[in-house]
Amino acid sequence: MKRKVFYSLLALLVIFPLFNVTSPAQAAGFTDVPARALEEVTFLSDGNIAKGSSAAIFNSNRTITRAEAAIFLGRALQLNGTPRKTVFRDVDRSSSVAGYIQSGVDHNIILGYLSGVSAGNFYPNKAITRGEMAIMIANAFKYSYGGTASGAAKALMDRGVADGMGNGSFGSGNLIKRADFAVFLARAINPEFRTKDSVSFTKSLWSNAPNLNIRSGPSTAYPSIGKLSENQQVSGAHSVGKWTYVKSGATVGFVSTAYLRTTAAKPAATPPVTESADSRLSGQTIIIDPGHGGSDPGAISFGLREKDVVLTTGLKVNNLLKQTPFNVKMTRSTDTFVSLSARPAFAVRNGGDVFVSIHANAASASATGTETFYYSAATNPYTADSRLLATKIQNRMIAAWNLRNRGVKTGNFAVLRENNMPAALAELGFITNKSDNDKLKSDYWLTSASKAIYYGILDYYKAKGYDVDSLYNVPK
Ligand SMILES: [Zn+2]
Repeated sequence: MKRKVFYSLLALLVIFPLFNVTSPAQAAGFTDVPARALEEVTFLSDGNIAKGSSAAIFNSNRTITRAEAAIFLGRALQLNGTPRKTVFRDVDRSSSVAGYIQSGVDHNIILGYLSGVSAGNFYPNKAITRGEMAIMIANAFKYSYGGTASGAAKALMDRGVADGMGNGSFGSGNLIKRADFAVFLARAINPEFRTKDSVSFTKSLWSNAPNLNIRSGPSTAYPSIGKLSENQQVSGAHSVGKWTYVKSGATVGFVSTAYLRTTAAKPAATPPVTESADSRLSGQTIIIDPGHGGSDPGAISFGLREKDVVLTTGLKVNNLLKQTPFNVKMTRSTDTFVSLSARPAFAVRNGGDVFVSIHANAASASATGTETFYYSAATNPYTADSRLLATKIQNRMIAAWNLRNRGVKTGNFAVLRENNMPAALAELGFITNKSDNDKLKSDYWLTSASKAIYYGILDYYKAKGYDVDSLYNVPK
């Protein structure tokens, strides 16, 4: 281990030893929380979103660091907190904060220093200001605010999530204490804490399951405060990660979004599902494998690198799958080198049920189109399912991008050959072809490709007899 790395790791361990510990739900018995923040800190503590340094000490008056804010927000939105490599050189992959910091980046909630003299650093121990807090919360809860600190401050004030300073200003440059950050976060999650009635239940939603719990907060750590019967209609407001804030009669609380539909009851012709679709899907793990990475750029053409295009697409697929009961894992979620053999090994180690590798093609400038591969030989025993998966993804990609249909093909790729689950490799288009390249360099078309891959995976599960109908309604 390099000395520099060792010291930065040491520094993180010294500063954040407490966030390693996943303790059971902590009774909020803090003795250092001021009355103005007590209900909100208790609410976050009940859901294991905010923790103190002990059962009694919340460190209310200490300024909150960028790393702590990332942890609180990541827990609130149920993001992946597994320590892993981040895009920042000053956040060690093994540090307990690395997972939430990288998830914050993946979800555009918390930004590091991407340009200028500080580029590539996150500064996890730096205290945040009220202005930075406003931007993080506005990003986390998807407020439209125009991308400016003043816009974010206004978005929070309009909703009663934050107040101004009394002198008319927001105090954007002022540092913020842990207790006050907790208050703002609790208000963003739960409108009952807000300083004004700003919630509007504008969405019509229907329960997808019998005996569905309405909970007092957005996780199963919170108690049930009511039940919905199957097909019962509710009104929905905002989402907090995978939970939706709903109103049903006099009961207002949070319901797991996976159990809500945006359309009225299914047609009577639909045969009853004998086994709960959701319970089966939550046992399924999808492995997303963006090709290349790090020192291996893949194909490069017209200034575009394959490794970047396929990572962007993979992250978008990941974000879609994260909103479903499926488990999803990525062989890489950052610009890092992963060997060919490590990819199927990762999939096997993580109990993958479906493996989808994402690539862009390269050949002469005239070659164009979309093709999807599977491996047809004895080393991966799932030939028929692999062909089915490849076909479903290919069909969706053709519908989405309308490039030349080069078809579903067999290919002897290590990531398919050395796998032991249904596996497909999508070549979205040719990076070496000008018009294919135009799509590959467009965020709009990569979003379209990610939905095609997502729908292709759903089509595969549907063909295998799973009830995935409710998952076709994805946000945005
Ligand atoms: Zn490739």
